[in-house]
Amino acid sequence: MAHVVISGGSRGIGRACALLFEKNGYDVTILSRTCPEENNTGITHISCDVSDPESVKTAFEKIESPVDVLISNAGVALSGLATDFGYKDYRRVMDTNFGGLFNLANEVIPQMVRRKSGVIIAISSMWGQTGASCEALYSASKGAIDSYVKSLAKELAPSGIRVNAISPGVIMTDMMSCYTEDDINALKDETPLGRLGTPEDIAGTALFLASPSSDYITGQIIGVNGGMLI
Ligand code: NDP
Repeated sequence: MAHVVISGGSRGIGRACALLFEKNGYDVTILSRTCPEENNTGITHISCDVSDPESVKTAFEKIESPVDVLISNAGVALSGLATDFGYKDYRRVMDTNFGGLFNLANEVIPQMVRRKSGVIIAISSMWGQTGASCEALYSASKGAIDSYVKSLAKELAPSGIRVNAISPGVIMTDMMSCYTEDDINALKDETPLGRLGTPEDIAGTALFLASPSSDYITGQIIGVNGGMLI
């Protein structure tokens, strides 16, 4: 049975990925700071703070089976004027969003290289591609993910490892809870497909990127945004 490790699988996009991969016969391990209230028996939760390399190392010591697929999904958002934030905010956003990918990839790459196979999927954001006003730090952390994904893809392709990012548009999860109904309606109006995304939209793309159907795809930043960014 193929084994997928998903960071931030306790809710939102990570949770949808965990449920979909489990349904499709994967052995699923999720890494997050809290355990989901209802955890399926086929999904193993390990407590982990992805921003802390020691916490990630300890979590991986508990993972016995080889990792076929890594989904680096855990992330935090931060909205406000660029000058509202200081070094602590910078560290929190960069260490979680980009550092999380860095820490997790460092754990799985050596074993994937040894086996000459593996798939790494990073959950980025369309703001990493375009930049978002009042989300400068967040956008920068996602831009770093995109560059890292492209570089890793080149470095690891000779070892049979594919590395891609999914770049979601606006997806209805807890991360969107700070927006008012008017904001949400305005975002819907800006989306050519006329609706906001669901966590399942992203999970479906992740399942495709993990599967042999995408065997010739690496180093790509795949937009899943209802046409908001074309
Ligand atoms: P949620 O806020 O719903 O979920 C975030 C997840 O990340 C939770 O499972 C949380 O688990 C986990 N997490 C956060 N910090 C850490 C940490 N330090 N260590 C381990 N786990 C952590 O967000 P979404 O599901 O919406 O977001 C998932 C990803 O998708 C993020 O990377 C986000 O940037 C990206 N994205 C989301 C978009 C959206 O519109 N929703 C748009 C574009 C990108 P816990 O708190 O239990 O640790």
